[in-house]
Amino acid sequence: RPLVVMDQVTKVFSSGTVALSDMSLTVNGGEFVSLLGPSGCGKSTALRIIAGLGDASTGMIDWPSSRINSKGLPEGDISFVFQEPTLMPWQTVFGNVHLPLKLKGVSKAAARDEIMATLATVGLEDFAEAYPRELSGGMKMRVSIARALVTRPKLLLMDEPFAALDEITRQKLNDDVLRLWKETGITVVFVTHSVFESAYLSSRIVVMKSRPGRVHADFALHTSLERD
Ligand code: ADP
Ligand code: ADP
Repeated sequence: RPLVVMDQVTKVFSSGTVALSDMSLTVNGGEFVSLLGPSGCGKSTALRIIAGLGDASTGMIDWPSSRINSKGLPEGDISFVFQEPTLMPWQTVFGNVHLPLKLKGVSKAAARDEIMATLATVGLEDFAEAYPRELSGGMKMRVSIARALVTRPKLLLMDEPFAALDEITRQKLNDDVLRLWKETGITVVFVTHSVFESAYLSSRIVVMKSRPGRVHADFALHTSLERD
């Protein structure tokens, strides 16, 4: 069951940089795909196109399992986690996780159970009333993940989410993301330049090369991490 189909996508920025050349990639439901490659090979550009946040210059992008809105973009099925958690400092953890539901018109009261359940999945149920400044970097990242999950997306896109965190925190978060993937059935596309991280996390690794960015290798992993 494909969630995303990229077919021969080329992306040329107005600067003339060819960020992606002829990239084809199908992401199937249930996969944990790592996009692995060196800095500048087009991983973020590809992820933004998969998210519907950036246009392809040529080629096609489609989301066969999603409701498509009048702009030709998928509606509500995709969430994005960036390296920078970008939380609202004037809002509590609860308020920050409420944001995507608020944008859909759901009040805090109506969203309370969903928000608390989502906070529990990332181990933050006791921090609902805390403010971002009171939290460590790893906890802020957990808030950011909860905010991405609270709308129950089919597809979670993560762009080098843990690269700025220390090694121990990073390993804990990797384990949390794996657990979430196993427990929820969500599909993940995870951008990283760490071979270790991609091998530890994924069910499939897509290796990219630069100048111009393109797919170099694409292989399934047979590890203890597969879902039952
Ligand atoms: P990665 O995520 O693998 O580090 P990116 O997708 O960020 O790679 O970038 C791929 C290439 O496109 C790089 O050469 C980068 O400098 C260039 N690039 C990225 N975004 C832009 C932009 N908005 N305008 C011009 N060039 C860009
Ligand atoms: P609530 O849902 O609790 O009303 P809001 O996000 O609407 O939360 O606003 C909470 C407070 O933060 C308000 O006082 C508002 O003026 C302030 N605020 C909202 N957006 C911004 C912003 N971009 N920068 C700084 N303060 C903001």
